[in-house]
Amino acid sequence: MKKYLLYFFVITIISSCGTHPFRSSEKSYKSQLRGFQKKLSSKKTTPLENGINPEWISTVNFNLRKPNFIIIHHTAQDSLQQTIRTFTLPKTQVSAHYVISDDGKVVQMLNDYLRAWHGGNASWGKNTDINSTSIGIELDNNGTEPFSDNQINSLLALLSRLKKEYNIPTQNIIAHSDIAPTRKSDPSVLFPWKLLADSGFGVWSDNEIKEAPQDFNIEQGLRIIGYDTRNLSSAIKAFKLHYIQTEVNDILDPKTINTIYCIYKKQ
Ligand SMILES: [Zn+2]
Repeated sequence: MKKYLLYFFVITIISSCGTHPFRSSEKSYKSQLRGFQKKLSSKKTTPLENGINPEWISTVNFNLRKPNFIIIHHTAQDSLQQTIRTFTLPKTQVSAHYVISDDGKVVQMLNDYLRAWHGGNASWGKNTDINSTSIGIELDNNGTEPFSDNQINSLLALLSRLKKEYNIPTQNIIAHSDIAPTRKSDPSVLFPWKLLADSGFGVWSDNEIKEAPQDFNIEQGLRIIGYDTRNLSSAIKAFKLHYIQTEVNDILDPKTINTIYCIYKKQ
């Protein structure tokens, strides 16, 4: 009997030591979901400023709103574990739907229908709430190393699924640097945008770029593509980080102007 008692104590000690590393983040995720469920079920209406109180009558025709953009980032951290830790600590206030490690492992951290905090203060065209309409994908990369083949292969497989599932326009697969040109420069200049475009994700310039017309308005062109051009120099630089990776600066040489015109024509 004594022997069994000893086993019981040993097992209890072992199981209490082996606490799941993300138990508290799992708990928080669940409790937040319960809060949202309550919000979604609410039929409470609030009076308008003219005193009319909207009446509630439920429709039967609806479904969930879906993401319409994919934003690609690099983590600027040294490992997948470090990124996961960052995204499970409340104080950091940042997250993404997916993280892809150097060896191609994919970690999903949030349901696609929920709003991750990956874009920050950002815009694309007139869309000023990118987090509400996008899926964020973080690539484990420190910002100076090349992206591995395994990582890019997993990214392509993930993009293929998401683009199909949510019918995301190919032009809406863009970089964090595109939506926040004054603040962000990820993914780095080593990111293979051409390979992505060749695989059907995002747009790329033609092999033979046509000359832009004399009266082509460059600022307007960038704005129609989606860039916030209030800081034109940053917008040009962000454009070149994506489309002319050999010359990342704000110089408007003929090649840059013609490339902007080419991408503008693809919108
Ligand atoms: Zn980013």
